[in-house]
Amino acid sequence: MVPDTAAVPVAAPVIGEEEIAAVVRVLRSGSVVQGPEVAAFEHEFAELVAGRTCVAVNSGTSALQLALQALGIGPGDEVVVPSFSFAATANAVRLVGAAPVFAEIDPVDYCLDPAAVAAAIGPRTAALLPVHLYGHPAPMGPLLALAERHGLAVLEDACQAHAATLHGRPVGAFGAAGCFSFYPTKNMHALEGGMIAVQDRQLADRLRLLRNQGMAERYRHEVVGGNLRMTDVSAAVGRVQLRALAERTARRRANAAVLDAGLRGVTTPAVAPGAGHVYHQYTVRVPRRAQFQAELARRGVGSAVHYPVPIHRQPAYALELDLPETERAVAEVLSLPVHPGLGEEQLARVVAAVTATAEQFAGAVR
Ligand SMILES: *Cc1c(COP(=O)(O)O)cnc(C)c1O
Repeated sequence: MVPDTAAVPVAAPVIGEEEIAAVVRVLRSGSVVQGPEVAAFEHEFAELVAGRTCVAVNSGTSALQLALQALGIGPGDEVVVPSFSFAATANAVRLVGAAPVFAEIDPVDYCLDPAAVAAAIGPRTAALLPVHLYGHPAPMGPLLALAERHGLAVLEDACQAHAATLHGRPVGAFGAAGCFSFYPTKNMHALEGGMIAVQDRQLADRLRLLRNQGMAERYRHEVVGGNLRMTDVSAAVGRVQLRALAERTARRRANAAVLDAGLRGVTTPAVAPGAGHVYHQYTVRVPRRAQFQAELARRGVGSAVHYPVPIHRQPAYALELDLPETERAVAEVLSLPVHPGLGEEQLARVVAAVTATAEQFAGAVR
């Protein structure tokens, strides 16, 4: 990770004195891997997912991979995923030997379109894996109904959506397993790390076996498992970050409200009825994106494209599919600074730069 040096950076991970003190405390304790800090982090994180049992792992990708594996999804199975996501969503499916089936997104909230998911379900479909993209909840009502009708598991990729809600219920508490990431740029971090939230205790036990060489007790291996353990150093950082999450989420929302009110000439993010968006990203659609982004950079405003190439067209997948809304999104989206570290002046600068650029481009077209 290279720090963003723009006057208004698009992301600004927090590693403050509290995080540093927590790391030093754990290092001095001598218990550094999957010990008391991990147990405490799992216990505390459960509050964020309606009391579900939480199992910590070493990344969000590991969370997805392990959840799929623990649910028995593997070779011969298909899992419906969006192509408009970070590649980890589909990679996790491939890493367990199953096949991702890429479905179209809704152009308004950028999450899976339930009608497209319905069309993608076939005899080999084992699970649905919606992504709560940018911190906006996927349409879980229709997706859970589809899964119920076809006897499918639902896993949630909540890696960008800590504390997001839908009709008051937190994401990660809808499907069989909710997977979170604690990468530094996420809404909360643990340096690296992941969490799986599950309702079923037996599934939690299986996840615990699978993350640690299949061991229930030392040198007794019940099943074949890898090493996906979280360190106590990471967990201690995660616990500090978790305590700040509510306040930082409120600041993201307040920042998004300022952008919503001030921006002109771009398509601002919509929020579905009943959705509690947590603005992991504040993503707009802009005309002539490459030039638009360069012009923002010239004005000292950082921005990022999430994501410039859909997963199905990545070299690792190389599929030719007809996903017009996905293609339109990859060509038009631009994420603007919304992180909780932004000051009033920085936000005003984002509003001014975006609006001026949009006006300049609209003028040039006419
Ligand atoms: C970050 C992310 C992941 C992977 O998380 P890591 O902790 O980086 O492995 C998976 N899915 C989505 C949508 C993400 O944004």
